Amino acid sequence: MENSALKAKIYGVRGSYPPTRGDATKYGVNTTCLRVDFGKHIVIVDAGTGIINLGNDLMEEKRSGKKNQEFDKLYLFFTHTHIDHLMGFPYFNMIYMPQTEINIITPTQLNYSIEEILDTLMSPAFFPVTISELPSQFNYFEFAENRMVYFFKDGYEIVPATESSKVENWIGRISCMRNYTHPKGGVFIYKFEDRKGHSIVFATDVEGFVGGDNRLAKFAENANVLIHDAQYSLKEYDIFQGFGHSTFEMACEVAKKAKVKKLILSHHDPKHTDQELQDLETEARKIFPETSVAAEFMEFFFPE
Ligand SMILES: [Zn+2]
Ligand SMILES: [Zn+2]
Repeated sequence: MENSALKAKIYGVRGSYPPTRGDATKYGVNTTCLRVDFGKHIVIVDAGTGIINLGNDLMEEKRSGKKNQEFDKLYLFFTHTHIDHLMGFPYFNMIYMPQTEINIITPTQLNYSIEEILDTLMSPAFFPVTISELPSQFNYFEFAENRMVYFFKDGYEIVPATESSKVENWIGRISCMRNYTHPKGGVFIYKFEDRKGHSIVFATDVEGFVGGDNRLAKFAENANVLIHDAQYSLKEYDIFQGFGHSTFEMACEVAKKAKVKKLILSHHDPKHTDQELQDLETEARKIFPETSVAAEFMEFFFPE
């Protein structure tokens, strides 16, 4: 397990905001954050409140000295920067460590650069510490559908997708697909692959199409794990159609069409109780048996 080239762990499962009542805690209360490890490299997707626990885990793992991960050099990607995917960032302990180098590799959305967005989030009106006052080092890189990030045993490289066949000796790679269904700038769906052909696709904050999103089904074809938005019940969707989120049915349609091995329903509505999420899982399994509701600290390993 320790030698897996591809590992993923879910740190945040909620959409919008953390649940405010006590009957919605079993699957987790934190907003979106996913960790993906390629060998020693640690990749983070989104900085919802889940990133706070991730930071605690990284600190603990680093202190324990047992793992040989590269804790001082992290890679951060954003699906988009709505507040539920950003609100944990100022509380991510690794940014307060002088050794930390954080490489933010993310597409520009809505004409705001990610640098501008983080500077605004951590400006005096919202937070007492600014980015420039942090001891850690930030590097920003543009990402897009026509680029891929390759990870090697040591180091990484961002390459044009057209040149991906020339890349050698890689252990993991990341590609993305733009989805336009989420207001107002859309989102990016990410695919994480290892050399053996295992893959995890992360499709949060997407609204489905009748019969399943064909482009997404192609992007996620034969994936080992598809993590898909399923914020609404069928009844709620009547009210919230067009808000940029899916029902479990929409997620199941994509999973079936893409022939994925496992479907994980995520971005749970903060109002959904433990019981409602459990019922949703039961219903979803009638359509796609290999379905689970996302829970915090759920992990996926793929042998090297
Ligand atoms: Zn969201
Ligand atoms: Zn959103």
